[in-house]
Parts: sequence; structure tokens; C-alpha cells
Amino acid sequence: MKILVVNCGSSSLKYQLFDMTDESVLAKGLVERIGIEGARIKHVKTGMDTVIKNTDIPNHKVAFKVVVEALLDENHGAIKSLDELSAVGHRVVHAGEKYAGSVIITQGVIDALEECVPLAPLHNPANLMGIYAVTEALPNIPQAGVFDTAFHQTMPGCAYMYGVPYHYYEKYKVRRYGFHGTSHFYVSRRAAEIVGKPVESLNIVTCHMGNGSSITAVKAGKSVDTSMGFSPLPGVIMGTRCGDVDALLVSFLAEQEGIDNKAMSHVLNKESGLLGISGISSDLRDIEEAADGGNQRAKLAEEMLFYGVKKYIGSYAAAMGGMDVLVFTAGIGENSARAREGICEGLEFMGVKIDREKNKVRGEERIISADDSKVKVIVIPTDEELVIARDTKRLVTDGK
Ligand code: AMP
Repeated sequence: MKILVVNCGSSSLKYQLFDMTDESVLAKGLVERIGIEGARIKHVKTGMDTVIKNTDIPNHKVAFKVVVEALLDENHGAIKSLDELSAVGHRVVHAGEKYAGSVIITQGVIDALEECVPLAPLHNPANLMGIYAVTEALPNIPQAGVFDTAFHQTMPGCAYMYGVPYHYYEKYKVRRYGFHGTSHFYVSRRAAEIVGKPVESLNIVTCHMGNGSSITAVKAGKSVDTSMGFSPLPGVIMGTRCGDVDALLVSFLAEQEGIDNKAMSHVLNKESGLLGISGISSDLRDIEEAADGGNQRAKLAEEMLFYGVKKYIGSYAAAMGGMDVLVFTAGIGENSARAREGICEGLEFMGVKIDREKNKVRGEERIISADDSKVKVIVIPTDEELVIARDTKRLVTDGK
């Protein structure tokens, strides 16, 4: 069974073609700069060199056509006919309170996702464009939606409600939703497999730290709290996002600077975080280099990140009544030994003890805690696409 996983951003389309008989990736790629000058597709058939083709790609429909062409290509394609495709799985960011799991996409699902557009104005429209593009190109192939918010639907009210008048929740559905759910789900399951215990018996804190970062408390396999909220802005400081701030900062700054909501949102989403503090870069690699060179603001940015993650770990351990496993994943979590060490430093009182030698690892699954550490600390490369492919397979095979 071959399944294509599609992840659409506003100007990009990422894809991976899986052979689900052994969960191998047959081909993958990325269409960039959709609707912008300089559009191109980077395609790689497993085991072969990357092929780059520059071509005019005005919208997601054309982007998907270009993907289909690449998949069918005689030399670097991975299928001979579209009939080989059993289903397409989509990453969709926001499903509101409607879906706590993945679903087969029907008109009703599309309507529900359209309703969620105000909750994720940057992401859901792009995800929907992907669904529309695939529907037009492959009308007879089943499609599944896998949602970033779904895994967090198990949070209790005390974790997801904000202390604003209740009627705003009823009227506008303002609450904590959480994001990166597919990643937190994957690494928590994988962590349980690695330590050889059922996930139901474990308290796990998962740190997904990349350009966007979120920390999640996974108790007995369920998300019980997460650091992102109504939007993917709060939580720890990120590449360009501010993370947690006093809500009144927003109106204060808007008034002082004479800027409107849209401009304010831009400041908080795109000009803040590691970039805003350091004034150098949103990329932790640049920050680490500058900090080593004596740049004090880079050092501060790095310290803010480590301190923020440490506080979430502590609070989630408290929320769950303890922590058995601590997981690091995504760009920073998988690659920065320095970040992992900086975050874990001082958590020895909770039974977290890193082995510095074992921690020297990049992009590889490994237990990095000392043998006598009460808490197992594990680096696990995330694989959201695999979860999407598995869910899609399950839905088209079993119908649920
Ligand atoms: P992601 O969004 O998961 O792709 O993560 C991207 C981010 O990971 C980059 O912006 C960097 O900040 C970070 N990153 C990737 N590799 C490293 C590394 N070797 N050291 C520190 N940070 C890294």
C-alpha cells in the first residue's frame, strides 16, 4: 500500500511517499515559493540524488501537479501510475474542538476545517488548499486529515481554560489548543518503546524544540498540558516568536508604538524570540556562536530559552506527580547537545542526570541520561510524516 503524505504551508508543499508494507520512504520533496518568483521543486527518490526543477508555480493546484509529475517521472519517479496510490494523508494544523483524532476527509470535515480558519489564519487556509488541490487532481483517492491539535484534546479544563470570562470560551472558543501534537504523540510512544514500558504507565515530558517550540506533559499516553495555547505563540521563547508574555504588554506596546493589531502580531510572531533578543538570528546555531564570541544579548537569548524550558519541565513534572522520561526532539532538541545540557542542568534534584559523553549526539535516537539517572532522558528524531501515513493507512483499511 502506497500512501502520499502532504504538508502544505502558505507558499510551500512538502511531500513524502511511503510504501506502507515496510513503512519505507520511496520519495520525498518540497515545492517552494508557490505564488512567488523563483518557484521550484526539490525532489529526491530514495537512494538517488536530489533533482531541482525551477518552474512557474502560481498556486497549490499547480504545485501538486508538479509533485505528481515528479512522482511519475521515468528516471527519478517512484510510481508508474497514479493507480498505485492508495490514499493521501494531509497535515492540518487546526481542528478546533471538533476532532480528537485523524479522520477521512469528507465535505463535512472540510466545512469544519474552514470554520477553524479564524483560529489558525496562517495555517488552515494553506492546508485546505492542499486538500482542494489533491481532490481536483485525484478525485477518487481517499484523503485523511491528521491534526496538530488533536493529540491535545485530552487536556483537562483546568489546563486548557484561560482565566477570562467564560462566555468568551462559549462565544469564540478561546482556550488552549496546543500544537505539534503529531510530534508529541510520536516521540512519547517511541520513548515508551525505548524504555520498554507501556506508555500508560509513564509520566513523560516531551520537548519539541525547533523554529517553533512546545513542551508537553504526557501522562499515561495522553496530553494533559502543553505550552502553546490558543495560538502557536506562547510557551518558551522561539526563533522569532516571543513565547509567554504578560497579555497587557500587547496593548501597552501597541499604544506606545502607535501600531495596529496586525503590526503587533507581526512583532510578536516574526520579530521577537531569539531573533528579537539577540538582534542576530533566529537560528540557535548562530546564537551559540555569537554567545561564544562574547555577545551578551546572544548569551541572554540562549539563557532565556534554557530557563524557560527548564521551568516548563518542572511545572509539568508537578502537574503529573512526577516524571519518568524526558524527551528532546526537533531541530534544536535533536541537534544541540549544549541546549539539552543547559536545560537539564540544575534538574538533578528531580532525578535528571545527563551523561555528557552520551549527550554528544545529533539527529539520532539515544538515551543520554546517566545509567543511575532516575529520569530517562532521550533524544528522539521526530517523524510526523510517518504518523500521518500510519493514521491514513489505518483509516482507509479499518475505517477508524
Ligand atoms: P526545525 O524547526 O525543527 O526544523 O528546527 C530548526 C532549528 O533547529 C534551527 O532554526 C536551529 O535553531 C535549530 N538547530 C538545527 N541544528 C542545530 C544545531 N546543530 N545546533 C543548534 N541548533 C540547531
